[in-house]
Amino acid sequence: MSLEIQKHVPLAPLTTFKIGGEAKYFVEVSNEREVKEAIQWAREKSTPFVILAGGSNVLIPDKGLDALVIRVVGDDHTIGGNLLDANPGCNLFSLIRVLGEKGLGGWEKLAGIPGSIGGAVRGNAGAFGSEIKDFLERVKVFNIKTGEIREFGNAECEFAYRDSFFKKNPEWVIVRVFIRLQSIETSESQRLTDETVAEREKRHIQNVRAAGSFFMNPVASPEVVLMFEKEKGVKSRGGRVPAGWLIEKTGMKGSSVGDAQASLRHPNYIVNNGNATASDVLVLAGNIKREVREQLGVELQEEAVIFNF
Ligand SMILES: Cc1cc2nc3c(=O)[nH]c(=O)nc-3n(C[C@H](O)[C@H](O)[C@H](O)COP(=O)(O)OP(=O)(O)OC[C@H]3O[C@@H](n4cnc5c(N)ncnc54)[C@H](O)[C@@H]3O)c2cc1C
Repeated sequence: MSLEIQKHVPLAPLTTFKIGGEAKYFVEVSNEREVKEAIQWAREKSTPFVILAGGSNVLIPDKGLDALVIRVVGDDHTIGGNLLDANPGCNLFSLIRVLGEKGLGGWEKLAGIPGSIGGAVRGNAGAFGSEIKDFLERVKVFNIKTGEIREFGNAECEFAYRDSFFKKNPEWVIVRVFIRLQSIETSESQRLTDETVAEREKRHIQNVRAAGSFFMNPVASPEVVLMFEKEKGVKSRGGRVPAGWLIEKTGMKGSSVGDAQASLRHPNYIVNNGNATASDVLVLAGNIKREVREQLGVELQEEAVIFNF
């Protein structure tokens, strides 16, 4: 076994929320063989394990995780023609910039989404009308239960709004990501990237201590959809309404528990204003869900992954 398993590793610094306790065991893996080795180690010790990557969509409990945390890292990638073959640990934003410099792009609307490309595929990350599914050709995955390695084409990934086959079937770990890009002038890619980041900054969704949108945009009743469309003058997409709008409607924007707050600028972000704990976040999230359910009859569902062991 070549991997170095560490003990009692603080996890908060590895997340964008900056919340949570220690991992009982921790290891970084940068390729398929290491993923397998780490899982084998956990099996032999009868220890549960979780996969962590960029830590931008997770909430770690205050007591930490009594588990092996397997952190997917790495920035190796190759380009053949217009096809990118990337380690799932690659930072998505860095890839967009690096590939833009090499004249490949088309996916600049995803610029600024924090985290890894593997995490983005698992949650079908998206922004401004683009989603990673629009560019994904296939993934290589490893089944932690059976040891099977196989490739899934785009259709087999069953992508939907912030959803994929891998989200519903967490026994499959993504070990390689293949993205199809277009040829683009470097200056044009840079311009589009900068434009996207500027828009994200304007909307205050960049560089905050949060896990991104805490709740998914839910499908609401026709009455609520109508209320939204009339008020905002925009059409609902597939009967969904923004969770942030629902939170604002119920008067929960800005509400807080300890240092956790439903952001005043972007209410679907629960932000850590300093020393928020995971339990502050969970109590606040519960309060928000209750108000939205009781006042508007809509059930919010977490987008952020709440780890618990
Ligand atoms: C400020 C901010 C803004 C954000 N804006 C957006 C946005 O505009 N659009 C958007 O969609 N999201 C957004 N997010 C959420 C987040 O960036 C995305 O969900 C991101 O794709 C998560 O990737 P990650 O590497 O950080 O995953 P992590 O947070 O580390 O993990 C998330 C989940 O993915 C699983 N996972 C990670 N890697 C793998 C793998 N290789 N194989 C299998 N499972 C894996 C983990 O087990 C976990 O369940 C934002 C977050 C923040 C903090």
